[in-house]
Amino acid sequence: MENIRETLIALSKKSDFDIYMEKLDRDISAHKLDKAKKEEIVKNSMAEAIECYEKLVKDYGELTPIKYAIKLNVPIVYVKEKPTKYYAYLGLFTEKNQTITLNIETIDFVKDLANQYNICDLVDIDSLKNTVTAHELFHYLELVNPELYSNQKIIDGKIFGLFKTKSQLLAAGEIAAMHFAKLVTKLRHSPLLYDKVFVLGKKQLF
Ligand SMILES: [Zn+2]
Repeated sequence: MENIRETLIALSKKSDFDIYMEKLDRDISAHKLDKAKKEEIVKNSMAEAIECYEKLVKDYGELTPIKYAIKLNVPIVYVKEKPTKYYAYLGLFTEKNQTITLNIETIDFVKDLANQYNICDLVDIDSLKNTVTAHELFHYLELVNPELYSNQKIIDGKIFGLFKTKSQLLAAGEIAAMHFAKLVTKLRHSPLLYDKVFVLGKKQLF
């Protein structure tokens, strides 16, 4: 099994920009884009996150993500759902009822894991719930602000080299959501560190 401590240390040495570039590289719909284009997407997604964060501060002042959700009338629902091999999540945003769901079961699971692995010095585990909330809140902002860059990041493609298609570059929204969460929570490390711990935990379970 990979050494989680080393993985987290290596990750915390990387810049946000590099971490997001790697995320974009893993997005299958971005595989045909050249490096300059990918850099532009990451820069624009980060700029979008900063803009959304600054607008919230301007409108409501510096608040916790949960308080922003209250101001914006976005309900937060707490559930306890055990992760399965095919379905595991910390939080999600449902467009239909514009609700944030936080899965306390998996959030606590990641917390336990951080204690068990003795990595609480590397991962700010107390900010996990707020970070997940802020991330999902960003997806709400995307929904109500269709003009946002990540909503428009559509790439042209071709199926079998024949049919023209358009697909949304989901990584742009995920990068922006991740960066937004980092800004709102003033997290000292990338939210990606949480994902790493979560992925490790899932491997342990299944
Ligand atoms: Zn997301």
